[in-house]
Amino acid sequence: MPNRHLTYRYSKPYSARGALYVLLVVLSVVFTMATALSVADFLKILFGEGDGAAVATGNLVAEGLERLYRWLIGFGRLQALLLFSGIIFVLYSLKNVFGYLAAAEIGILRTRIVRDLRNDLFHKAMRLPVAYYDRHRKGDVLARFGSDMVEYDENILGSVQMLLTAVVSLVLYLAMLLYLNVKLTGFVLCMLPLVAGVVAGLSRRLKRKSQTVQEMNSQLVSMTDEAIGGLKVIKAYTTIDFSNKRFQAYNRDYTRRRTAMFRRIYAASPISDFLGNVIVVGILLFGSLLIMRGDHGLTADLFISYVMMFVLMIPPAKDLSTALAQMKKGRACEERVAAFLAEEEEVYGRPARERKQARAAEGPLVELRHVTFGYTPEVPVLQDISLSVPHGSTVALVGASGSGKSTLADLIGRYYDIAGGELLFGGVPVDQWPLEELRSRIGVVAQDTLLFNDSVAANIAFGRPEATRAEIEAAARAAQAHDFISALPQGYDTNLGEGGSLLSGGQRQRISIARALLREPELLILDEATSALDTESERQLQQTLDEVLRDRTAIVIAHRLSTVVGADRIVVLEQGRIVEEGTHSQLMALGGRYSHLVALQTIG
Ligand code: ADP
Ligand code: MG
Repeated sequence: MPNRHLTYRYSKPYSARGALYVLLVVLSVVFTMATALSVADFLKILFGEGDGAAVATGNLVAEGLERLYRWLIGFGRLQALLLFSGIIFVLYSLKNVFGYLAAAEIGILRTRIVRDLRNDLFHKAMRLPVAYYDRHRKGDVLARFGSDMVEYDENILGSVQMLLTAVVSLVLYLAMLLYLNVKLTGFVLCMLPLVAGVVAGLSRRLKRKSQTVQEMNSQLVSMTDEAIGGLKVIKAYTTIDFSNKRFQAYNRDYTRRRTAMFRRIYAASPISDFLGNVIVVGILLFGSLLIMRGDHGLTADLFISYVMMFVLMIPPAKDLSTALAQMKKGRACEERVAAFLAEEEEVYGRPARERKQARAAEGPLVELRHVTFGYTPEVPVLQDISLSVPHGSTVALVGASGSGKSTLADLIGRYYDIAGGELLFGGVPVDQWPLEELRSRIGVVAQDTLLFNDSVAANIAFGRPEATRAEIEAAARAAQAHDFISALPQGYDTNLGEGGSLLSGGQRQRISIARALLREPELLILDEATSALDTESERQLQQTLDEVLRDRTAIVIAHRLSTVVGADRIVVLEQGRIVEEGTHSQLMALGGRYSHLVALQTIG
């Protein structure tokens, strides 16, 4: 699977930090071992043993400790105890200092990796075609950024950290154990496969469980999102109880599966703990037997050190099994994230040769020849559409809602690819345009305005952040927005608040128009730009639009026919087909669909 190395890819830039982390862990473990070994000596002082000749074990650690012991005891017993406490205190502090530095280091590493990943996710989300969001739930996509990032950090990065620490510690402890006594350690090593086998068995089924749990979690988010989005409808239909019950049933099921998953995770630790204790008892027995048999490799002191060292090994061994289990749990999440990052993006760049060709083109600005399109192959939405928009003219699209007007407009900006026919912009097929260049030549004003929580100026300059204040003002004047903007408390610097809540619908639309005009688009698309407004605001905005549309090339989609009367050409769509076209007077004289629509609206 190509996504397998997501974590490897994202941690690679930080390999130097990773190495530093390992070094700090090594230091911390070394000082832990030193502390443990010293404690054995401490006990010897306390019990006043070892006055006799040292047993020659040929073991450097044992001899070093013995030498230290003799040196200390030379000061007298009480002094030796005090000195010794001091030594242990220092060793222990050093262990903690390095432990802290290691933790700080890995903290930086983890947060940076998650930061990089989150940036790439956002970048991806922006570059995915709009069609992706037709096919996927919003809750699913949001989960990549929310719960998945938390889970990735905890289960994957957390486990990698734990695994790294555990492996480094275990290797060091094991090396020390081997050095202290080979026979005993051989005995320990024989027991290890048993532990490993049990742990592997435990974690095997975790991944699948965790996958289901995560899928249910994003479903929960989606349900909540839907319910809050449709709260007014839920209240209006007095279906709060019904919604609650549905949610609770789902939540119950989700919780049940989650509990089952955690039971499995939590079982890993006590089971390996238990196995660790079994081995400790085994060592005690085996070691005591060796000593009683007078095995010269092992003295009672050394044995105490050995057991202490072994006990120190149990927590990292436990961590190792926990980390493996957690990693299994997190794999599903990692795969989801990797799959999202591997989704196919819109293709933005194209060779420069084609770009030149695009600029040189003649003829109508937009031309559709027998275009067909469907969001899914089975359901055609547009069929055999032929249409041209000459430079400087206004073409109006009218027709019932669902007849395919917005879809047609979306095809020109290539938000979707046509299924058949030809669609030319500036004489060049749209799929040969660099996507961003194509879109930069088209200004769209739709029914719903998208305003950001930022200043008026920044909202207008959204498509051209480098625009000067004079240019912004000129665009605002053209959209007849200058007067009301100037009347705002801080003029162009007034913050619009969430979703532009400060402004009326008509004012918001004027900002949208100014934003579109600032880009000086070759083609202006107005998709029901006035539909959300009340009649009076609509009438006022219409005057602005008439002004804006003069000398511009535009496609105007309108529900209310009064707004399209002045168009150079009116195209009537019905169920994805062009059924009539001509000027207002031609179509009225024809007495067909259009005149029928006009008659309906005049009465209504
Ligand atoms: P209009 O703008 O004329 O009201 P649309 O172009 O929005 O019509 O829609 C035309 C048809 O395509 C409708 O049947 C609509 O349900 C369908 N449609 C619109 N957008 C999508 C989409 N993103 N995914 C699937 N079907 C869609
Ligand atoms: Mg529409």
